[in-house]
Amino acid sequence: MSATEPDFLPFALPDIGEAEIAEVVDSLRSGWITTGPKTRRFEEDFAGFLGGGVEAIAVNSATAGLHLALDAIGIAPGDEVLTTTHTFTATAEVIRYMGADPVFVDIDPQTMCIDPGLVERAITPRTKAILPVHYAGRASEMSSLGAIARRHGLRIIEDAAHALPTTSGGRLIGTLDSEATVFSFYATKTLATGEGGMLVTRDAGIARRARVMRLHGIDRDAFNRYVSKKPAWNYEVVAPGFKYNLTDIAASLGIHQLGRVRGFQQRRSEMAARYREGLSGLPLLAPPDAAQGDTHAWHLYVIRLADDAPLSRDEFIDQMAKLGIGCSVHFIPLHLHPYWRDTYRLTPDQFPHSQQAFEASVSLPIYTRMTDDDQSRVIEAVRTLLG
Ligand SMILES: *Cc1c(COP(=O)(O)O)cnc(C)c1O
Repeated sequence: MSATEPDFLPFALPDIGEAEIAEVVDSLRSGWITTGPKTRRFEEDFAGFLGGGVEAIAVNSATAGLHLALDAIGIAPGDEVLTTTHTFTATAEVIRYMGADPVFVDIDPQTMCIDPGLVERAITPRTKAILPVHYAGRASEMSSLGAIARRHGLRIIEDAAHALPTTSGGRLIGTLDSEATVFSFYATKTLATGEGGMLVTRDAGIARRARVMRLHGIDRDAFNRYVSKKPAWNYEVVAPGFKYNLTDIAASLGIHQLGRVRGFQQRRSEMAARYREGLSGLPLLAPPDAAQGDTHAWHLYVIRLADDAPLSRDEFIDQMAKLGIGCSVHFIPLHLHPYWRDTYRLTPDQFPHSQQAFEASVSLPIYTRMTDDDQSRVIEAVRTLLG
């Protein structure tokens, strides 16, 4: 780097401490590097963190967890699952894994989450479930969605990839009345294990099915119940399952990341408040806050440029990069991607709020390894470009 060129501030970085590193080393030395005692401990700690009597099933990605959840509630070919277009493709691809069809619904521009009014209008006799996303770490309107689900006999699987820790009506996401909730521990998420995820449920049947399908459809519990003398080498395969188990190496990170998750949220929340304050008066829309009394995980800080901003969204991101600051866009809505667009004949005019948000959205860096000076640099750069 030359003296005139500031260091590049990446869009995201994981916050891995010495305790995480020591735990990984301990796993490596122990000889137990796949699913074992640390994965079990991470599951127990995670269920304890959420409370509410939930079971936690560790998996190697949120995508895997969402797939297992849809399998466990029996989603089948011909079924429809209502979900948001304003998400990552993983949310919808798992519906296709089951041979079912996603039905995309526009967002409420106030929350950036699926619009419950539009959900109710999209229900058909084929609809089996709703798959909301807690966009950026702000809860979807879960009481409305819950009421719709009860009225129409639908299940709810929550994509909580952004939502640790997030609350809705004062309750942590993961402890609501949905059939299952799935968190992501991908490198950029609020708890990072490199790759990883957690399926959380209070339904013993879903938990049991997910545990079996997570590892090749092997049912050790059933086998153990019927065979009194159970040699360690013996097991029974009861279904064509998947290879979705988490490793103890990843769980080593997760155990210590979980202990820091409250502190991470506090820091992210301070940073969000500082952005809101520091970027006030500019031609942009700040992201929606949590509902009154609720917690926002602040996985993302997404501003929307106003129509009268002096430069376009794409120009803005280019200029920020020239100033040494990484930005991103969350998300390119699914209705714009060739596979989803062409398979379901989707057009932008079916999703005006998502389309409008996409065209104006910029995700600014927000993560706990940023210093106050780093954030000041971002604020200064945005003020220079938009002021
Ligand atoms: C990251 C993400 C996922 C997928 O998470 P993985 O753990 O990478 O599978 C799913 N949904 C949303 C909204 C995400 O942002």
